[in-house]
Formats: sequence, structure tokens, C-alpha cells
Amino acid sequence: MLKYLNSDVVFQEIPDEVALAINLTGCPCRCPGCHSPYLWGDVGNPLTEEALDKMIEACHSHITCVALMGGDAIPDEINRLMQHLRKKHEKLHTAWYSGRSLLAPSLNLNNFDYIKLGPYLSHLGALKSRRTNQRLYKVYNGKMHDITSRFWNR
Ligand code: SF4
Repeated sequence: MLKYLNSDVVFQEIPDEVALAINLTGCPCRCPGCHSPYLWGDVGNPLTEEALDKMIEACHSHITCVALMGGDAIPDEINRLMQHLRKKHEKLHTAWYSGRSLLAPSLNLNNFDYIKLGPYLSHLGALKSRRTNQRLYKVYNGKMHDITSRFWNR
């Protein structure tokens, strides 16, 4: 089961969105230069649908998006939680920050509005670096559209 350590309302991770970012643990990616190695272990609380609902309710409608940060160990659970968001919180956009280079083929794109792909490589930098290997995609019309450049014009 996916677990999470903490959450925060953030403004920079997804362009034009106020996102509830939930930091998932058990990360298997082991990126060189990882800024959050405390997310590698099997720690935190289970991210059930109920836990997700409670965190959203605590935001009192101030958010426009829910962003799951990590969770690459069990992508099918990401898919299931996103499906839950689509059904129960249909006004909220959904985002996933994955540390993998490729999307797991079993994921249903219809459950996602944004997907970030790519491991963190310190010599290339994160999304705000023009040299980054990471990519943020907006999903519409059943396809992923690269919007990484939105981070470079701020
Ligand atoms: S995806 Fe990479 S940078 Fe993010 S927590 Fe996992 S190892 Fe660290």
C-alpha cells in the first residue's frame, strides 16, 4: 500500500494551479543527488481514499489540484487513487510527479491532468532549469503535451 509522509499547499509545482502536494514514501527511484532521501523508506501513513478525502476537506476548497509526489513503487495504486479523485472530487485537477523516465503502460491517461516524468539528475537540474531532463506534461485529448517550458518564463 502507498504511504505518505506529509502534505502542503503549493503554488509552483503545477503552472496556474494551487495544488495540494502529498509526499509519498517508499520511493524506489534512487535518483543521484536526491533532495529527499527521507522519502525512500517504508514510513508514514497509508494513503487510503479516506485519508485523501480528509486532506482535501481540510483545505476548505482553496485548492484547484491534487498532486501525488512519488509512488513509483506501485503505479497501479496511483491510478486507483486518481480514479477516486475523478469520481469524488471532479472539480479538482489531478497531477502525478513520477521519478521514472517512462510512464507505466497500465496507467489510464484519462485519470490525469498533469504528469511529470524523469529522475532528478543534479547536473541537469529540476524543472526550472532549462537543461533539465525532467518533463511536465499536460494531458488533454487523450495525449500528453510537454509544457515544461512554462517553468522557464516565470
Ligand atoms: S523520485 Fe528521485 S528525487 Fe524524488 S524522492 Fe525519489 S529518488 Fe528522490
